[in-house]
Amino acid sequence: QAKAAGRNTLRFFDPKIQDAVDAHAALEVELRNAVEQEDFVLYYQAQVDGNSTITGVEVLVRWKHAQRGIVAPYEFIALAEETGLILPLGNWVLDNACRQLTSWAVQPGLAALTISVNVSAFQFQRPDFVDQVLAILASTGANPALLKLEITESLLLKDVEDIILKMTVLQAQGVRFSLDDFGTGYSSLSYLKRLPLDQLKIDRSFVRDVLTDPNDASIVRTILALGYSLGLTVIAEGVETQAQRDFLAVLDCHDYQGYLFSKPVRLAEFEYLVSGLREAA
Ligand code: C2E
Ligand code: MG
Ligand code: MG
Ligand code: MG
Repeated sequence: QAKAAGRNTLRFFDPKIQDAVDAHAALEVELRNAVEQEDFVLYYQAQVDGNSTITGVEVLVRWKHAQRGIVAPYEFIALAEETGLILPLGNWVLDNACRQLTSWAVQPGLAALTISVNVSAFQFQRPDFVDQVLAILASTGANPALLKLEITESLLLKDVEDIILKMTVLQAQGVRFSLDDFGTGYSSLSYLKRLPLDQLKIDRSFVRDVLTDPNDASIVRTILALGYSLGLTVIAEGVETQAQRDFLAVLDCHDYQGYLFSKPVRLAEFEYLVSGLREAA
């Protein structure tokens, strides 16, 4: 069979594997079209401080699929990275986030919010990454000081000097950096000291059982002490209950993100949330 199929397509004897390969290829075609058509939407998830005041927001991309409805990132980000589509998609996300910053800049109550944008290692490692970010900041007129780029420890497996250089150039323009999913990767403490970071983001997996698992509580306490001693802010992700939030506060964590405060929501709902909290205050 493998030979008989001829052409350049891979053929497998196991029909199950063949189906999976076909589905993967079909999904890639669909994703490519979606990137061309810009069939995506940003969801906004609040970040709050110790007074439950919304201080910022993380934007999370969703695929607006004609048949399947709203598709979550875990279904397409990896494929976007494999295929290089993460580059145009990442620019689309960044461009839209920066346009949002500019439109909020003239709205009381929204003007001071930071926007956090997830940047994949594939994007960051591109030689033109810094130029792309600066071009988007210039064309949108967004305040760089309100833009926070979320990077992950996987980025640090490659050329760290290059990463530090890029971060330093962007930081000089005011852009800030958060180390996402912190504690799940491989970052060495010596790198951590050298990276021009603004924030550590405690991974959701440590927050989940922080009340019941003493090891998780120890890890959270350690990340907080580490972050503060390096002069960084530390935010906990995945905070779902008031009990988790209160315990995190006892551990000296003062910035939170999670379903307790808000799920990721559409723009109008997020703006409503901000104004609602403002009136309640
Ligand atoms: P992340 O950056 O760590 O984002 C946090 C994820 O946790 C989001 O999932 C969010 O919806 C979810 N989450 C937030 N609070 C809670 C909570 O209290 N409980 C639970 N169970 N989950 C919570 P989402 O939106 O599905 O995104 C998943 C991942 O996809 C993100 O993880 C990020 O790595 C990636 N991603 C999302 N948008 C983008 C993007 O624009 N570019 C890139 N490169 N990656 C993105
Ligand atoms: Mg993130
Ligand atoms: Mg995260
Ligand atoms: Mg995480």
